[in-house]
Amino acid sequence: MAHHVVDLPLGGNPPGTARSVRLHRFGSAGARPLVYVQGGLHATEIPGMLAADRLVRRLMALDAAGAVTGEVRVVPVANPLGLDQRVFDERIGRFDMAGNGNFNRDHADLLDAVVARVDGRLGADAAQNVATIRAAALEAVATLSPLSQADHLRRTLLSQAVDADIVLDLHCDDIAPLHLYLGTPLWPGAADLAADLGAEAVFVAEISGGHPFDEACSALWWRLAAHFGPEVPILPACLASTVELRGMGDVEADLAARDAAGIIAFLQRRGAIAGTPPPLPELRCQATPLAGVDMVSSPVAGIVLPKVAVGDEVAAGACVAEVLDPSGPAAGGLEAPRPVALCAATAGRVWSLTTRRFVDPGTVVVKIAGAAPLPGKTELLLTP
Ligand SMILES: [Zn+2]
Repeated sequence: MAHHVVDLPLGGNPPGTARSVRLHRFGSAGARPLVYVQGGLHATEIPGMLAADRLVRRLMALDAAGAVTGEVRVVPVANPLGLDQRVFDERIGRFDMAGNGNFNRDHADLLDAVVARVDGRLGADAAQNVATIRAAALEAVATLSPLSQADHLRRTLLSQAVDADIVLDLHCDDIAPLHLYLGTPLWPGAADLAADLGAEAVFVAEISGGHPFDEACSALWWRLAAHFGPEVPILPACLASTVELRGMGDVEADLAARDAAGIIAFLQRRGAIAGTPPPLPELRCQATPLAGVDMVSSPVAGIVLPKVAVGDEVAAGACVAEVLDPSGPAAGGLEAPRPVALCAATAGRVWSLTTRRFVDPGTVVVKIAGAAPLPGKTELLLTP
């Protein structure tokens, strides 16, 4: 039992500069369940960093009391690269300005490297298969050869998470209630996570496309199961979730304390922390398919005027926002341009609104949780 703090150095830096990510480790190395929590992978999403800070403070007290029975790792500031990207007075934390994409995409696809390591070594013992695969996955991460700073960061984070039983990647949306992304095979097994956090929406996909961090850890298991077939038992041994802690502006000490308490209760339920968890709160939603999310985008540039609020139930075809060109009539014209109506393609609950008030063609303005997959939504199910 001890609280260890390690600053993991990041590679790929120009001479004269250095970066690191700070890892907090609680409990005993090698104890199970192994839990990994990170905040701020999208560096401008502050609620996750604040919740992780509150979690570290809670864990320090619990660990000092000998109550961390598993191993818990927390990286409160997962993206120092993004945190340091500023253009004039604006922080840019979602995309790597050096050209290496969205920080929560393109995490390593370990399938082939793990298959090569475990082929012929898996058997009928599911627990032994889990151990064999975890060791292989760690080896596979260690042999990645990143070039860019962003890929060094991706490898460093994955090296701390890929062998975990539970991975919580704390993010936030624009304007939204608390919601989760999960692999389909993890539901309803992870309903206690949704209940403890008070999630108001849960989106499931077997593969959501783009290789986000949570799926680098979790989808590996069901992809391996599909590869080796039913003779080789391979459990979905990593419960990984992208946890969206409401919206960008929801940065409040009380909310962060509540989120940390929800995570602690969940970890007590899962045996990583000793003690009796509070009674499981009632689940506030059922999971819906990520492929059923209607991302209503604007076809034109202009001022956006939402017609709905988060939480509203809308019918298919309903107007959910208008986009207005404020230029007024052209010379000689009598009428100002008519606003463009944005309509829902599906019935469902509005769960996200953009914070932007002037949008461009393609900007997602409203997101609606539909109950069934939408036609044509099969591959890239997440926004950029
Ligand atoms: Zn994010």
